[in-house]
Amino acid sequence: MSATASTAVIIGAGQAGGETALQLRKLGHAGRIVLIGEEPVVPYKRPPLSKAYLAGSLGEEGLHVVPPATLEKSGIEFLGGRRVQRIERGSKTVWLDDGTNIAYDRLALTTGGRARPLSLPGGDAANVFTVRTIADVEALRPHCQPGRRLVIIGGGFIGLEAAAVARKLGLEVTLLEGLPRVMARVTAPEVSAFFEREHRAHGVDLRCGVQVAALHGSPDVHTVELADGTRLAADAVIVGIGLIPNVELAEAAGLAVDNGIVVDEHTRSSDPDIVAAGDCANHPNHHYGRRLRLESVQNAMEQARIAAAAMLGETAPYRTIPWFWSDQYDLKLQMVGLSTGYDRLVLRGRFEARAFSAFYLREGRLIAADSVNRPADFMFAKKLVAAGLQPDLEALADDSLPLKSFLPAA
Ligand code: FAD
Repeated sequence: MSATASTAVIIGAGQAGGETALQLRKLGHAGRIVLIGEEPVVPYKRPPLSKAYLAGSLGEEGLHVVPPATLEKSGIEFLGGRRVQRIERGSKTVWLDDGTNIAYDRLALTTGGRARPLSLPGGDAANVFTVRTIADVEALRPHCQPGRRLVIIGGGFIGLEAAAVARKLGLEVTLLEGLPRVMARVTAPEVSAFFEREHRAHGVDLRCGVQVAALHGSPDVHTVELADGTRLAADAVIVGIGLIPNVELAEAAGLAVDNGIVVDEHTRSSDPDIVAAGDCANHPNHHYGRRLRLESVQNAMEQARIAAAAMLGETAPYRTIPWFWSDQYDLKLQMVGLSTGYDRLVLRGRFEARAFSAFYLREGRLIAADSVNRPADFMFAKKLVAAGLQPDLEALADDSLPLKSFLPAA
């Protein structure tokens, strides 16, 4: 797709969509680039939505990853506030919600996902919020007043980050998690327990292993009822219970979909003229030997670069190790790799110092690491996990030995 007359269309103007568009230009695509986004905003970062943006210490412009001037300079046609309703693969055309259509030579699907709603009566009440978009946070913001009672449903990253910000803003926060511990799917029990202690120390009424049975009140919810009959007063509710990938468009177009749009290691979907990247894509992960659909900035950005190359006929493989971060209070949690299935945990540093790293091993091999307030550990951990290090466990736990010394000789 290098001819000047060819058109690249990108559906979804989030981090992956914005990066795909920029990268196409960087790689020398001289034809049209049309970036279509349902939200009326230029591509923006979502992580601050549950952190600095919610706290009010970062304005909307600080979220933009591809500001209007960059779009203009790069000759990217941005159609904001427009939803693609249909992809016609036979004629290579996308149809928009205003009845217009655009023909493409290559198409990228970067449609991301939407917050999973709470499927209980009252789940759509005016004071029940999710945190996925700028609009979500703007709707929530008037409720973030000191003394208001906020109930957060979900002890994953978004719920915990929102709890930390809400405490800082002076709200009374109750956080409800259905599983026996917070962040249960991604961290070791020891790391969950550390974060639970921190949240409680900051005044969060944190309850794990509880089920929400009902929301009472109309039009606004005023009580959250648990399965054991406990009733919690609420002025507002945040639901942070995961994401549903936006795959309906791809599915209706007949593309292979299975927990995300199925792509190969070059991000190509079951149609060679269509790539997919970011939260909506399910890729074969080289490092873990299985298919993954990841929800992270790193994945959105790096996969988008591979997708742009694939649209131009290059076949670079997507082969990076996943990494992620979360900010809660003054704690920076940085995670690399996937710890699922680990059989040994090695700790460096001390929980009491609020600075430590947890290394996850399976059959003697390092598969993942979590660092809290130890950015240098994280930097080396990325390399060690990528190298599939088989360390001496005692040495790994010995904080006096620099992690650098574990790096394989170049
Ligand atoms: P999205 O950002 O979801 O963008 C997809 C866009 O496509 C959306 O704007 C959507 O409206 C649009 N779209 C969908 N369908 C259509 C259509 N038919 N027509 C037109 N447009 C369409 N990751 C980290 O690594 N670290 C963090 O600390 C972190 N914190 C987060 C905090 C919050 C509150 C949230 C919500 C996410 C966080 N993430 C974090 C995850 C990260 O932001 C996402 O993984 C990333 O934004 C995914 O980018 P994306 O482009 O794939 O999808």
